[in-house]
Amino acid sequence: MSEILDGLALSKILRAEIFERVQKLKERGVQPRLDILVSASDPASLAYVRMKKSWAAKAGIESHSYDVDESWSQAQLLTKIAELKGNPEVHGIMVQHPLPKHLDEASALVLLGSDKDVDGMTPQSLGLLASDLPGFRCATPAGIMRLLDYYQIGLEGKKVLVIGRSIILGKPAALLMLQRNATVTIAHSRTQNLADECRQADLVLAAVGRPEMVKGDWIKPGAVVIDAGYNTVEGREKDVGDVDFAGASEVASWITPVPGGVGPMTVATLLANVVGAAELKS
Ligand code: NAP
Repeated sequence: MSEILDGLALSKILRAEIFERVQKLKERGVQPRLDILVSASDPASLAYVRMKKSWAAKAGIESHSYDVDESWSQAQLLTKIAELKGNPEVHGIMVQHPLPKHLDEASALVLLGSDKDVDGMTPQSLGLLASDLPGFRCATPAGIMRLLDYYQIGLEGKKVLVIGRSIILGKPAALLMLQRNATVTIAHSRTQNLADECRQADLVLAAVGRPEMVKGDWIKPGAVVIDAGYNTVEGREKDVGDVDFAGASEVASWITPVPGGVGPMTVATLLANVVGAAELKS
């Protein structure tokens, strides 16, 4: 049986560290603050933002959110981002993907730039990552790296398969693992023989959004399995990941549970980035 990569436990340790850093900032008169734009008509996004705000409050970080609804124009969205960028009290700005479809999210991210992009998902931040330059890293992939580091799972020379190529997860995760000298393959919806690709990997990162798509017999014995997926399935009591946990945990050396694996690390990493942004400005 696999050992568990316990993201929930590590996130609690990180939260305590973040709390201490926040206290030090407050002693210097700095109140770290995160502002989030979120679609008012997307219940999942609203739930994620509520969770982020609740964790922020527990860590002593001030947070504000703005419900972006059908009445918002593109100009209003850009004006809001420009206003938050110009507000010295705001250290981090996040655009919770996806915004309502009538809005052009990409141009909002271009305007956001890199200075306050604590979720590391603007073209500027991704460019810094691709160029191996310092900058905020996407919270979910950076949280995964932190989890691997904590459990001392090295990537040098390892074959990694990242399934998914989104700009918030698959692509930046692949780049971060490449920086650690892994040999990285990225799979996507047009990849052929995905199971065979998987069977060759020392580490599989599933970032797809398809419940339990990766089967236990796709996993090479002793491989590490990171499941970033988070899927609600009708009739199932608990949300499930992209990996068949029961099957994969019989062969993997290490595996992340869902929930309690990647998810809590994402929030902890986002908050650490907000504190980092506040420290840089103070
Ligand atoms: P996304 O933007 O929808 O991207 C999904 C990726 O999976 C795409 O690159 C897609 O390929 C690929 N894909 C779809 N079907 C496939 C198949 N049959 N075989 C191989 N690849 C396939 O999703 P995302 O935002 O990256 O999120 C992925 C999952 O992670 C979701 O379950 C999401 O809820 C979860 N997530 C979790 C966290 C967290 O903190 N735990 C954070 C963010 C997301 P194409 O590019 O070819 O379409």
